[in-house]
Amino acid sequence: MQTRLKKTTLAILPLTGLLWTAPFVFAHDDSFLRGDEHQAMHNELNAEHQAGHEALNAEHQAEHQNLEAAHQQAHEYPMTRRQHRRLHRQLRKAHRAEHRGLEAEHQSQHEELNAEHQNFHDFDR
Ligand SMILES: [Zn+2]
Ligand SMILES: [Zn+2]
Ligand SMILES: [Zn+2]
Ligand SMILES: [Zn+2]
Repeated sequence: MQTRLKKTTLAILPLTGLLWTAPFVFAHDDSFLRGDEHQAMHNELNAEHQAGHEALNAEHQAEHQNLEAAHQQAHEYPMTRRQHRRLHRQLRKAHRAEHRGLEAEHQSQHEELNAEHQNFHDFDR
């Protein structure tokens, strides 16, 4: 029997999971800071890190909207409970894959920033 299921929002996709707000941690403590140039470089990397986070969060939010739109669209048609469960399973899977992609991007951004920072210190010596 086909029943028209009530539209629900995707509460299964919490948006808070990926809000990276932690400041970027440099591989040395601030007592090593020598001079304004170094401080300025740290500030620059911090700003880059912040911008990277904002871009990732925006991407994450857009992906949630995509999934929610796909969900709403699927609900335009009648489906069985079983079909609905399957749909939600697929949405969760797509969401997890998206998260893995974003985590990897985030990770590589950190590595890039770390390398930039390391470079500076190598020249500084
Ligand atoms: Zn649903
Ligand atoms: Zn998410
Ligand atoms: Zn980060
Ligand atoms: Zn430094």
